[in-house]
Amino acid sequence: MNIPARVNICEVGPRDGLQNEDKILSAETKAELINDAIEAGYRTIEIGSFVHPKAVPALADTEEVFAKVNKDNNVDFRALITNLIGVERAIDAGVPKVKLTVSASKSHNLSNFNKNPEETLKDFEECYKYAKENSLEVSAAISTSFGCPFEGDISIGQIEKIILRIREIGITEISLSDTTGMANPVEVYQKFRYVKEQYPEIKWNAHFHNTRDMAMANTLAAIQAGVFNFDASFSGLGGCPYAPGASGNVSSEDLVHSLEEMNIDTGIDLDKSIELAHKVKNLIGHETDSYMIKAGKVDDLINEHPAEQKKIDD
Ligand code: ZN
Repeated sequence: MNIPARVNICEVGPRDGLQNEDKILSAETKAELINDAIEAGYRTIEIGSFVHPKAVPALADTEEVFAKVNKDNNVDFRALITNLIGVERAIDAGVPKVKLTVSASKSHNLSNFNKNPEETLKDFEECYKYAKENSLEVSAAISTSFGCPFEGDISIGQIEKIILRIREIGITEISLSDTTGMANPVEVYQKFRYVKEQYPEIKWNAHFHNTRDMAMANTLAAIQAGVFNFDASFSGLGGCPYAPGASGNVSSEDLVHSLEEMNIDTGIDLDKSIELAHKVKNLIGHETDSYMIKAGKVDDLINEHPAEQKKIDD
């Protein structure tokens, strides 16, 4: 088994998590959550998005949020954008990196952006050029890489076509996203192995939603394929719009716990990460799918449950 010494987790809760919540948090509170994530040791954080405020009202104040974030450290901050206005807003707000997203599925891209993937990629080119002129870093994400609610299976050929365009534009960091939790470990391993072999110069990232409880298995499969950068969301926020009530992104604290149990270093203070998950849950005011909140750490069990426990569990 391939067990790396270290993996990097990007906290995407402030963007992918909060954008799906009915309760809109204040800029101050969102900044506080980001500052807590920094304090917990996260070194890559997706702080919000610069998209049309009508499309994502919960994140309309990303400028204000970022202004309140502690910047006196070595954190890789990024924001999601979809067009040139987003790049401009990121520059004005001083956010050093933007993430562009396109869907591997034509139907999903049309539903998200009202454009074909080719048209979105054309926008990428424009955004990339403008970002580079202003010393902004750019990464890309390919959503529905492991299945689409409208089109079903997504072939490696469909993904590769997009990768080639992204590479041609000059972007060297790509995330393959399981937007609606349709991936399975075999598929994850095969797709990531292929792209890692074909495009070793690209920095690969995996973005798994835990809609059907497959995210942790998929993470392990991606690690076996040599991927060491993962997105996760505090308290597991980030529900899927096509499956109301479903789980969101894999929870950050669950991911940290699982990896640390396997002696894979994340650089994150698990207790602080769990504290943050509780805070998020209380702020949004409903239960979440965090196993750390429900069950606690393996260490808690060993320390807190006495050996003379009477009930026999099997
Ligand atoms: Zn997502």
